[in-house]
Amino acid sequence: MVKSTNKESYNKIFSKLKEHHKLFENSIPLIASENITSPAVREAIISDFGNRYAEGWPGERVYAGCRYIDDVEFECMNLAKKLFKAKFADVRSISGVVANLVVYSAFSNPGDIMIAPSIPAGGHISHGKKEHSGTAGLVHGLEIEFYPFDAESMTIDVDKTKQKVEELKKIGRLPKIAMFGGSLFLFPHPVKELADFLKSFDIHINYDAAHVAGLIAGGKFQDPLREGADTVTMSTHKTLFGPQGGLVLGSEKHEDGIKKATFPGLTSSHHIHHMAGKAIAFAEALEFGKDYAIQIIKNAKVFAQSLNDAGFKVLGESRGFTESHQVAVNVLEYSDGGKVEVDLEKANIIVNRQLIPGDIKAGRNYFHPGGIRLGVSEITRLGMKQDEMKEIALYIKQVVIDKKDPKKILLKVKKFRENYQKVHYCFDNKLGAYEYIKLR
Ligand SMILES: *Cc1c(COP(=O)(O)O)cnc(C)c1O
Repeated sequence: MVKSTNKESYNKIFSKLKEHHKLFENSIPLIASENITSPAVREAIISDFGNRYAEGWPGERVYAGCRYIDDVEFECMNLAKKLFKAKFADVRSISGVVANLVVYSAFSNPGDIMIAPSIPAGGHISHGKKEHSGTAGLVHGLEIEFYPFDAESMTIDVDKTKQKVEELKKIGRLPKIAMFGGSLFLFPHPVKELADFLKSFDIHINYDAAHVAGLIAGGKFQDPLREGADTVTMSTHKTLFGPQGGLVLGSEKHEDGIKKATFPGLTSSHHIHHMAGKAIAFAEALEFGKDYAIQIIKNAKVFAQSLNDAGFKVLGESRGFTESHQVAVNVLEYSDGGKVEVDLEKANIIVNRQLIPGDIKAGRNYFHPGGIRLGVSEITRLGMKQDEMKEIALYIKQVVIDKKDPKKILLKVKKFRENYQKVHYCFDNKLGAYEYIKLR
């Protein structure tokens, strides 16, 4: 280990933070689970709220000094309810994983069964089995059954799911929870088509909107609460452009269970600065969310089509590739998702490798899966539109298919990126999207 003084370590951290900002200022950020917040959200999250505790429900806290925190939290809950047309919102979950745990804890017991999408079918590790260290199995002791998935249409197979649930019932493994939503999420899940069926077995339906919350808020994906979901969980920082955090929605019937599972069950501090940031983001989404969601979906479709035209095997072709912010590409013709991710990063194009249907059967693993996943939320928030999608598809082709030197593409990427340095779809954007704030 290199010896350094305390002050040197201290300074080093700031220089790394600055370099990170510079990297993103010069990159094409295509991680589908990421986004940028507005300067307003950044202001909220550096406030003194971040130094306080406000355990309990607003108005009934267990500490003093919470009067302004309470006002903001009531506002935050009201904005969340308005944005998602929900009867009840608990804004205290500190992440999407915690939000899912709230639902598991409130509406099931260890040993119960949950039916959820498998990971290659788009599921998230927080829906996963104990043997994979998935949260549902490892932390709450749920046993997981997977939905039958149709790789051609890239969604849950309705008829086969019905058959499977009937069979599970026969062997005494009827699910307690049906989990919809996922991380590779191109097309809406069949909540409407399955809700009555699942409810006839008294199965609690949760919809995990972590990825698509911003699209739902904009009215442009599906509307799980109207389609039959009992509760909705989400992260607040993916397509929804809030700070990192979680949110749980439900009706009056679920209020008590959700509240108790959230506190004291799963939070003590609920990261109050982020709660304030969520409130700001909800207000922005109410005002600008529809235009933003419309542009995201247009961008994703053009991006997918351009990649397909460039020669890539884009998933979901029979359905027009995507109805969300994501595009999934099978890259096995060129190498694998892991290798492609590394090559693209050399050109400052930031993507992630992705397990796709068929990978596990073929013996591929998470390090070298068959696909990459691309998301257009952040570049849309930077103001990019359809023409820019075509340009980015071309850079990706040049690196992956044409095997051009990534360093040459890097120069083009940096130049291209110069024009997109502000956050769009927000009330105030004086501060640049990746501008580093020095307070010392
Ligand atoms: C990202 C994600 C989560 C986890 O959210 P965090 O906020 O990172 O804890 C949960 N579910 C799905 C489907 C996700 O994609």
